[in-house]
Amino acid sequence: MADTATVRPLRASEVSSWDLEADVVVVGYGIAGVCASIEAARTGADVLVLERTGGWGGAAALSGGFIYLGGGTALQRKLGFEDTPENMEAFLTAALGPGVDKAKIHDYCQGSVEHFDWLVANGVPFNEVFWGEPGYEPPADEGLMFSGGENAAPFNAIATPAPRGHLAWTKDKKLGEKGGGYMLMEPLAQTAEKLGVRQEFDVRLQRLVVDDDGRVVGVAAKRYGKELFARAERGVVLATGSFAYQHEMVERFAPKIIGRPAATVEEHDGIGIRVAQALGADLAHMDATEVALIADPQVVVRGILVNGRGQRFITEDTYPGRMGQAVLQDQDNQAYLIIDEQALEAAFETKSSMSFLRIAPTWVAETVEELEGEMSLPAGTLRATIDLYNSHAEHGQDPFLHKKTEWVKPIGEPLGAYDLRGYTGGFTLGGLRTDLDSRVLHVSGEPIPGLFAAGRVTSGICAGGYASGCSLGDGSFYGRRAGVAAAKGD
Ligand SMILES: Cc1cc2nc3c(=O)[nH]c(=O)nc-3n(C[C@H](O)[C@H](O)[C@H](O)COP(=O)(O)OP(=O)(O)OC[C@H]3O[C@@H](n4cnc5c(N)ncnc54)[C@H](O)[C@@H]3O)c2cc1C
Repeated sequence: MADTATVRPLRASEVSSWDLEADVVVVGYGIAGVCASIEAARTGADVLVLERTGGWGGAAALSGGFIYLGGGTALQRKLGFEDTPENMEAFLTAALGPGVDKAKIHDYCQGSVEHFDWLVANGVPFNEVFWGEPGYEPPADEGLMFSGGENAAPFNAIATPAPRGHLAWTKDKKLGEKGGGYMLMEPLAQTAEKLGVRQEFDVRLQRLVVDDDGRVVGVAAKRYGKELFARAERGVVLATGSFAYQHEMVERFAPKIIGRPAATVEEHDGIGIRVAQALGADLAHMDATEVALIADPQVVVRGILVNGRGQRFITEDTYPGRMGQAVLQDQDNQAYLIIDEQALEAAFETKSSMSFLRIAPTWVAETVEELEGEMSLPAGTLRATIDLYNSHAEHGQDPFLHKKTEWVKPIGEPLGAYDLRGYTGGFTLGGLRTDLDSRVLHVSGEPIPGLFAAGRVTSGICAGGYASGCSLGDGSFYGRRAGVAAAKGD
């Protein structure tokens, strides 16, 4: 861990002169930062954003751009899906737990329709096309899909399935370069600029500045190695992202993802968490991680996923991020995908955003026994799994893991297996504990005066589980709250 003295708050009396001043200083210009800036400006504050890199964007601009929204958004209704805030809340409480912040989930679900309308009003376009096949993202520019396993076991028995992965419309989409995330960020950054939000780039937060009463009144930063002090009359909003790239924090709090950061950026070095911790801020769910299984869901759904002992452990038609968590957290990062030749050929015919992963299986064999030998599994293990699966699959059923009938087909021969051991990666979901107004809470439970936070620097709506879109979702939603509260100086 970096020298703790370097993140200790600085007394305002130690600042000889302020280089920059504003009512609200927002640190980090990704999704949480841009939403905070817009709302703070609209609430009447003079807003200054400090960003470490050379422009707006953060992980958000590189992302797939899913925003998890529901409860009956205009897009859901237009595409014929019924949903209510209560239905959404039942799903999220089950899928993002255990141990979700119930007040936050309730608040988020109740505000979700309005939040969608707000994004649209601020220039974010959504294509009125639904993508209904398995995948991490739609293959083209479709605007809505299931993104959390809502229509798979066990959740389809807990809440009425509704797709809630809303994607900003990108016509000439390029994976990891120009996706929905870019189309989400660009109009929001333009809106902020029109509202007069000032931006300073290449400025890197180092410490918070507090007055004699312990109120946060500014930040100490560095630009090109030189110190820079920015004064915040009403409040500081931390929006610096997660700690996925801070090795020692990952080692301490979320060791299962050591060495496997994914869907994140190197700027997510935990600084926002540490400077607030140094002021006594409380933390939540530091062990929670999003985890992706790096495989094409169109292929996975047509086979069976087995662990290191050759046994099934999760339904293959669920959200692939849920499979990733199950593999990494519960199966020692050991997984193989077993698929027969016919099913593999059918999978390769489909559209997918991950068709670049369509390579030949690691092992192919004429019989199950031969495959077992190739994979060095104890004799009989895979045979037993496949016989059991097939005995029910012949009747279109999966009574153990409840894969939907449309995907249940006996595994035939010849067949192959993909070695997916270690094919997982992800980012951290834990962080500062905040209230519904995005005020950073002290370990005593009271808000730290003048300090607000949103995005992955905080623990948002996810406590353990994940659904695609929750990060941009709670980052934008509570970014807005942070902007309003900071502008009011609450
Ligand atoms: C390829 C990819 C795909 C993804 N897909 C999705 C998806 O579809 N849906 C979803 O919900 N999430 C997705 N994510 C995750 C999501 O993008 C992030 O979790 C989200 O952007 C977090 O929001 P944030 O505002 O906290 O951080 P960011 O959007 O990363 O913004 C943080 C900003 O703070 C800046 N910063 C950091 N440190 C400092 C400092 N010391 N001083 C000043 N500035 C600093 C950073 O440079 C950055 O610009 C994806 C991410 C990637 C990379």
